[in-house]
Amino acid sequence: MITEEKKEEKSLNFIEEIIEADLQAGKYKEIITRFPPEPNGYLHIGHASSICLNFGLTKKFPGYTNLRFDDTNPTTEDTEYVESIKNDIRWMGFEWENELYASDYFDTLYGYAIQLIHKGLAYVDDSSSEEIATLKGTPSEPGRNSPFRDRSVEENRLLFEQMKNGTFPDGSRTLRAKIDMAHTNMLMRDPILYRIKHAHHHRTGNNWCIYPMYDFAHGQSDSIETVTHSICTLEFVPHRELYDWLIEQLGIYPSHQYEFARRNLNYTVTSKRKLLQLVQEKHVNGWDDPRMPTISGLRRRGYTPASIRDFCDRIGVARRENMIDVGLLEFCVREDLNKTSLRRMAVLDPLKVVITNFPEELSETCLSENNPEDIAAGMREILFTREIFIEREDFMEVPSKKYFRLAPGKMVRLKGAYIIQAESVVKDENGEITEVHCTYVENSKSGQDTTGINVKGTLHWVSAKHGVPVEVRLYDRLFSVENVASEEGDFKDYINPDSLNIITGYAEPALRDAKPGESFQFLRKGYFAADPDGSTEKPVFNRTVTLRDNWAKAAEK
Ligand code: ATP
Ligand code: MG
Repeated sequence: MITEEKKEEKSLNFIEEIIEADLQAGKYKEIITRFPPEPNGYLHIGHASSICLNFGLTKKFPGYTNLRFDDTNPTTEDTEYVESIKNDIRWMGFEWENELYASDYFDTLYGYAIQLIHKGLAYVDDSSSEEIATLKGTPSEPGRNSPFRDRSVEENRLLFEQMKNGTFPDGSRTLRAKIDMAHTNMLMRDPILYRIKHAHHHRTGNNWCIYPMYDFAHGQSDSIETVTHSICTLEFVPHRELYDWLIEQLGIYPSHQYEFARRNLNYTVTSKRKLLQLVQEKHVNGWDDPRMPTISGLRRRGYTPASIRDFCDRIGVARRENMIDVGLLEFCVREDLNKTSLRRMAVLDPLKVVITNFPEELSETCLSENNPEDIAAGMREILFTREIFIEREDFMEVPSKKYFRLAPGKMVRLKGAYIIQAESVVKDENGEITEVHCTYVENSKSGQDTTGINVKGTLHWVSAKHGVPVEVRLYDRLFSVENVASEEGDFKDYINPDSLNIITGYAEPALRDAKPGESFQFLRKGYFAADPDGSTEKPVFNRTVTLRDNWAKAAEK
């Protein structure tokens, strides 16, 4: 498992090595890559890896990257997905050279199919899918020829034309490549090239009722676009032979396929089909729910493009599948937000503190730095008053030995303000503490000389008079098991029931003006991003990540 690792000068990954060798050998002057999503869902963190790889290569080497929608499956595709995909890639900081669609090549692909028929390399098969499966054989047993395999070129041409013209119902016929039913690679046993599907396509409407299969669209699209390095994930290794065979038989531009390992994250599902189920069955509130591993979900959660690119860069490109610790993704966003986010104070579980020797009417201006990592971010004013809120966990009536926060008789520093000492508590009828009465030490304001006073803890706080209530959405991992895909039964049985906890806290008034998407560090609590659901009356914040890795801590216990 890959976890946090030191970032150092990286050597070339294996695909970069191949490209560098190709360029040095003069095989290409420039390279062309493509990112080929199927518009049947939103992009997820696995896709981010492929985006960074494909676009990253043409940043490093001369050439460009196309965005190609692999839209050959009319029933699952939609323009909503097309728009979200474009938006997400741009947000990640990449721009494609050309926006292309496999469906734009339907005429060309049809022409290619006719060519194969003329060469005696494709035939129309009337067998049902069950019959085709039965004749296919097994990895250890050869398949058998279809009774329709030896049709004449003329008959095949005519039947294929009728397939195209809508003469036949769905599933009644297919066009198959004529290769070898005893081939050791099962995918070479007369693979299906076209199927009949009377369905509306999001771009070509009702023009077509036959659609090319993945294997007869992907490589051909690569070739039409003169893609030099077509990068896909490992499950396509067995398809490469067919990819090469089709290009060779058609005599078209020789694109080459290279495979790298699909990226899997623990505690996460990265399969569009499963993510779609989570959305449709309302386990989450849409594709951009901040618990989703989609790019839109991560964005709403407060992830930055830089943090996602950094993550993809750190995990690199592998030849073998492995599981990546989602903690690394969280580490990357902490790193980035630590540098860039403004510091603010918000109390998530408020306990009232009354400073009995502080004048009731006074609101005293204090100063606190906006970002200690970035002096240029400057200071901000916060108002200190007699009544404030602190975190309930920051007070203990009977403190343990190592407790350096507030307790009767003990002193703490309030961030940017005064040192206070707890004197007494007020309790309700159930014995629960409702107020802590304190006194403040005069001349102990931040910046003043306090030599001789020994204070170990510094607490964040919010003025009760000036603070604003904020809704805070505390997210945790959506799944409670590490390897969701390997668990028995339905993956949805492993959804973490505590993945969302909504609370109301108090925040300093500046947070009222937070713009949707803006990120802050709530001192001592973590990083939080303003959610579009919020308003100036009731701001809403999503917890992006805690300041430290709580899961690692829990695992140590
Ligand atoms: P899913 O299984 O989630 O539906 P997919 O491979 O069917 O994924 P596509 O839209 O076809 O989704 O993928 C576009 C590109 O992104 C492909 O080149 C694919 O190999 C790559 N890709 C998809 N998932 C991952 C992943 N987890 N890690 C790396 N690359 C991925
Ligand atoms: Mg796919």
